[in-house]
Amino acid sequence: MANRDDVDRGLAECVDCGSIYAAREWPTGEIQPIGSDGCECGSTDFVLVDDVDEESNGAPT
Ligand SMILES: [Zn+2]
Repeated sequence: MANRDDVDRGLAECVDCGSIYAAREWPTGEIQPIGSDGCECGSTDFVLVDDVDEESNGAPT
C-alpha cells in the first residue's frame, strides 16, 4: 500500500453498532468518517475495514 497524500481513505466500522462509513485515516491513526464527526449512534470509535471483500486479512505494518 502506497502513501498517497497524507490521508488514507477507506471504510470504517463503528465499534459500537457496526455501521460502516467511508472514512479517512489520518497519519496520527485517528479514523474519522467523511462528512461527520462520529457515528449516528454517538460513538466516535471506529476500526478500519478492508473493503467489502475479505481477501486481505492481514494488514502489513
Ligand atoms: Zn455506531
